[in-house]
Amino acid sequence: MKLGLYGGTFDPVHLGHLLVAQAACEEFGLDRLCFIPAAQSPFKPGSEPASAKVRLQMLRLALAGQPRYEVDAQELTRGGVSYTVDTVRDYRRRLPDAQLFWLIGADHVTKLPLWRDAEELAASVEFLVIPRPGEPSVPFPAPFRGAMLKGFPLGVSSSQIRARVKAGLPVDLLTGPAVAEALRANRLYL
Ligand code: ATP
Repeated sequence: MKLGLYGGTFDPVHLGHLLVAQAACEEFGLDRLCFIPAAQSPFKPGSEPASAKVRLQMLRLALAGQPRYEVDAQELTRGGVSYTVDTVRDYRRRLPDAQLFWLIGADHVTKLPLWRDAEELAASVEFLVIPRPGEPSVPFPAPFRGAMLKGFPLGVSSSQIRARVKAGLPVDLLTGPAVAEALRANRLYL
């Protein structure tokens, strides 16, 4: 089985994330793809994301009715800083025969050697690099391996969405209507 693992803060999930998931499944023949929201990203130490509960709720709304995609709440349940290697170990233990692909934004590739237990991580998963507009494509630092996705670079980010909500601008087309409604109902990012 080919399994995609897509970690992020998802604060909130947006169409950029969804298009990337679709591209990964189509281009690499993934059987399933798990969205794994982080409790606290090691790369965003100063920022406090929206609550685990509401980020999870938005992911479930965004992915409703699409059986190939799942939400895995293990990093939220563990709490604290979320390290990819801990999550990958869990998948290796539960699914020893699966081929694991970890999705990352192009902005993270050069920093992979700084990730916790980098050697073990590099041996455990292949990385699928998500193109982002304005980010040059760079080679993998050894011993990391993987491939570049082609589709679908979209200039949308969660921070841009939070800023638009704060400015009173609509975000429905960037998140989809269900997530936009949840943002309003929970009075997020005001
Ligand atoms: P923020 O703006 O708050 O930093 P973000 O939109 O980058 O958030 P994350 O949840 O941190 O969202 O993203 C998870 C992963 O998806 C990261 O590896 C990020 O690089 C990638 N990503 C996010 N948005 C896009 C996009 N529009 N196109 C391609 N990759 C994206």
